[in-house]
Amino acid sequence: MTAILSNLQATREAILQAALAAHRGPEEVQLLAVSKTFPAQAVREAFQAGQVAFGENYVQEAVEKIEALRDLPLVWHFIGPIQSNKTRLIAENFLWVHGVERLKIAERLSAQRPDQLPPLNICLQVNVSGEESKSGVDAEALVQLALQVVQLPRLNLRGLMAIPAPTDDVAEQRRQFAKVRTLFDALKSEGLSLDTLSMGMSHDFTAAIHEGATMVRIGTAIFGKRDYGEKI
Ligand SMILES: *Cc1c(COP(=O)(O)O)cnc(C)c1O
Repeated sequence: MTAILSNLQATREAILQAALAAHRGPEEVQLLAVSKTFPAQAVREAFQAGQVAFGENYVQEAVEKIEALRDLPLVWHFIGPIQSNKTRLIAENFLWVHGVERLKIAERLSAQRPDQLPPLNICLQVNVSGEESKSGVDAEALVQLALQVVQLPRLNLRGLMAIPAPTDDVAEQRRQFAKVRTLFDALKSEGLSLDTLSMGMSHDFTAAIHEGATMVRIGTAIFGKRDYGEKI
């Protein structure tokens, strides 16, 4: 058995256990495998182990991988920070974009989404940690942004994404994720039909599942430690 296969099996089992412990159905939580910095071959192996949805952070690296894996029916999610000069490549190559935090970026993605492709699925990134350095829209500005994004013709607003400040304190992890969940519920009570709460990474996905995550983004636990090399 390869490491990727056994890691995937262990991750799926951990997701299942977390869902059961939270009295949720395991089918309510989707696994997004974060393949950034890992080669196309690693993605191919994960696909052979049944994984279809993959997340990438760096546009150039991702586009090369997507090109090399065109023979597979993969679903690509862009989860990194979005620079406005990269929106066209993102709109042309991905089915999902997490991490939208500004109207201008959303407008560009909508305008640049090719007509022959389905609308681009969008999660707005919210800042729940309140640190100035953290990205994401503030809670106060979220409703307005969501109501604007939902008007854009080539986007399909699906929900929220968050990356809370990392901590080993599980109670604190849950407190941060619960805040995201509250914002998600508030948007739904504005009349928006949202179904995706993208939160939880290798170190905190159990807490995220307890607080309602519908999509966990997991890299290290599946592919191993990343070597950023010249990336940063
Ligand atoms: C890298 C990354 C992940 C995966 O993180 P791991 O700790 O390796 O599981 C998830 N989400 C985002 C936005 C990332 O950049």
